[in-house]
Amino acid sequence: MFRQRLIAPGPVEISGDVQRALSLPQIHHRSPEAKIILKRSLELLRVVAGLPETTGWQPLILTMSGTGAFEAVLSSLVPRGAKFASLSAGKFGERWSDMAKLLGYEVTEQRFAWGESIPPSAASSIAPETRALLVTHSETSTGALHDLERIARAARAVSPEILIIVDAITSLGMAELRPVEWGLDAIVSGSQKAVAGPPGLGLVFLSPRALEVLNTGGSSGCYLDLRRELKVQPQGETAFTPAINLIVGLNASLEPIAAEIEQIGLPAYWAGKKALNDALLAAALSLGCSSFAQVPSPACVTLIPPAPITGRMLWSALLKRGARAQTGQDAIKDAICRISFMGHFDRYDALAFAGLLEEALVDCGAQVTRGAGVAAAWQALEGK
Ligand SMILES: *Cc1c(COP(=O)(O)O)cnc(C)c1O
Repeated sequence: MFRQRLIAPGPVEISGDVQRALSLPQIHHRSPEAKIILKRSLELLRVVAGLPETTGWQPLILTMSGTGAFEAVLSSLVPRGAKFASLSAGKFGERWSDMAKLLGYEVTEQRFAWGESIPPSAASSIAPETRALLVTHSETSTGALHDLERIARAARAVSPEILIIVDAITSLGMAELRPVEWGLDAIVSGSQKAVAGPPGLGLVFLSPRALEVLNTGGSSGCYLDLRRELKVQPQGETAFTPAINLIVGLNASLEPIAAEIEQIGLPAYWAGKKALNDALLAAALSLGCSSFAQVPSPACVTLIPPAPITGRMLWSALLKRGARAQTGQDAIKDAICRISFMGHFDRYDALAFAGLLEEALVDCGAQVTRGAGVAAAWQALEGK
């Protein structure tokens, strides 16, 4: 059967072990096996996020996509009518301020041009009475990485009590992310991105300060009330029927990822991910493409092909060769092509996709010296 490779920024390919885990007989979510698997997954997520129990942070697995998990965090942590600040420079960042408005919060927004990284100084102008800051770490719509450490520091300088709520959906397990050192309060991710599980699970991590707010404040949600999950998940239970099969699949995906992180450490793990993305980007630049993102996230490259080739044409040429990347969104829908190595890619994949990029660009009519992209990828991988 024709196999299509997924090189889109989510969902990503799942391993054979995950596929097998997803095909196991149905278990009951209140059974001892289910409890063991949920507890184990939470333990493994702690490794991926660098948040051992000693930090006082609590991970949660929710049956919903990343967007649902983000909404659960907002409505659980912040009472309706409270003031939010939102910093954005792309589709996802804008989604969070729109969401907060829909939920009845008062939102002060600062939007920056797509492709830019949010200037950390923007956080200095947040009003001191602001209850929470919404920010996206890796803006997958533009491929830009935001300087979350400096943004959080600037926000904290304005208000020591502000809750810093982060869309880490494509930065968790890809980019340097230090929730404790950077003073974050909630980070959200999804099962279909760097942890390479099946889509359908939201991943949430809450700081000790967020937990205190939850335990003392009122939440307006029901299914989305995280207090219900907090009460039971540490014991391996969930408030409602979870997508237990997806959790079994996620668990199978997390095992080797956490094992690698425990072996080499998070900084080396992040460096490995970045190296692959850098290699692909180097290949693309050598072939006449440019990066839409000022500061590229290691979670994806966003390519502007040489004119008159559009991002959509490149996307289409890749798809014809069995590789499903992604076009842009909204105003940059046809302009860019996004390629991601989230999940299980190694340096030989990076070299192969550099070769594929050459061929796809030739197909689009670009003047390409065969081997130039692969050579550039090799150079980047060798640190030259
Ligand atoms: C994929 C993605 C989302 C959306 O997540 P869903 O699981 O589709 O709800 C949000 N933010 C970023 C940065 C993403 O990459």
